[in-house]
Amino acid sequence: MQQSTDTIAAIVTPLGKGGVGIIRLSGAKSLVIGQKFFSSAKKDFTCIKPYRLHHGYFVSLKGEVLDEILLAYMPAPGSYTGEDVVEINCHGGPAVLQSVLEEVLKAGARLANPGEFTYRAFLNHKIDLTQAEAVMELINAPTQAAIPLAQKKLQGLLQQKIASLRTILEELKQDFCVAVDFPEEDLECAPPHLVQEKVQKVLQEINSLIESYRQKHLYQDGALVVLTGRVNAGKSSLLNALLGRERAIVTSIPGTTRDYLEEYVNFKGLPIKLIDTAGLRETQDEIEQIGLQRGLELIQKSDLCLLLVDIREKFTSYEQKILELKSFRDVFLLLTKVDLSSKEPSWVKTLNLPVFKISSATGEGISDVIDAIVGHLSGDSLEATSDLVPNLRQKNCLQKAYQELENLLTHLGDLPYDLLAVHLDLACRYLQEITGEITTDEVLNNIFQNFCIGK
Ligand code: GDP
Repeated sequence: MQQSTDTIAAIVTPLGKGGVGIIRLSGAKSLVIGQKFFSSAKKDFTCIKPYRLHHGYFVSLKGEVLDEILLAYMPAPGSYTGEDVVEINCHGGPAVLQSVLEEVLKAGARLANPGEFTYRAFLNHKIDLTQAEAVMELINAPTQAAIPLAQKKLQGLLQQKIASLRTILEELKQDFCVAVDFPEEDLECAPPHLVQEKVQKVLQEINSLIESYRQKHLYQDGALVVLTGRVNAGKSSLLNALLGRERAIVTSIPGTTRDYLEEYVNFKGLPIKLIDTAGLRETQDEIEQIGLQRGLELIQKSDLCLLLVDIREKFTSYEQKILELKSFRDVFLLLTKVDLSSKEPSWVKTLNLPVFKISSATGEGISDVIDAIVGHLSGDSLEATSDLVPNLRQKNCLQKAYQELENLLTHLGDLPYDLLAVHLDLACRYLQEITGEITTDEVLNNIFQNFCIGK
């Protein structure tokens, strides 16, 4: 996306029928274009005033009234984008909105690219990169639990936290410079124990942000939970029990679920994609083999794997294969059909796995499984170490900054301050990448191309 100063316009509400639909203009010509089409409903109307809702009509260039509208004008720099903005509230019909948009484009505006309003807000320093990303995270919030996570970042709290860490590092950098310029005074301006203390403090804060990503990012990004087990272990029945409705076709003929089924559930605010994989069995059927292979791949990339075994069955090479694919940490063993038998097989004790006894027929144990899934995926402790949850890009930058500061501490005392300052510099750069003070077109394009048109 290039920086441009022309006037852009787009329908900013979803296309479809609704009470109201909004067209937004941003750029120097916004007001002129707005004035061209606006005809006030008030007899004593003089001009469009800032921050007022003006009631009137949108009259096309040919003189036709296209809609009864409310028009608002927000002058630069006090608008979302930091430029002159005009918003036209129309009736929410796709044809009406399209007609109004076309008129506006004929009058000299250009159709906005995806995310261009927010991109301009970023370029005009109305928001930093963490806030721009938070706009998208808020719009994409999969459940209500993700809203406060995005809101905190939208309010600039992550930006402030990063800025405070950078301040500490910048001060240290200055101390290092003095130590280099006046070597005989270096012990006074940057004594190693004080450097150590300050760097440790920053490391702790960075670590707590990384940790909170680990604990809470699934609330933003969603988790993948895969059900697996031999044919007839009870996977489809469990999927239905977890969903609370009939979805997967359940039969006692082995092989009903030939590929896989996926469903989205919201367990206590945690958005989860549940996948019922094809039952594991030897097969010559080519299509079924592809299904099995895809199932194994899904198991590998899942956040949690539910391995189902009929409580009356033995431990076989199939279960062994799953345990070889996945870390023990991320597998729950579910002994199924406990309404038919409650005797735990002796092989269970030989495995170091969390075990749940369930019956999809009676519902026994199902809520325990749900609690355990949420507990496992939302981290060992329910309290996140920080209430700020970075996204993946931000977490990666934090990890790089962390690494640089660790390197600095490793060499503190061995290396001269000008060499140690290189690590400080790099750590600061990674922190600046988070807020977008230092960034590349590639990073910006990656972020803004995922926005919708009109945001
Ligand atoms: P899948 O092949 O692993 O998906 O297994 P299904 O869910 O299709 O179940 C296979 C058979 O076991 C079906 O006849 C189910 O009705 C039966 N079944 C599944 N769960 C239970 C359970 O908890 N209790 C009883 N009694 N039967 C079950």
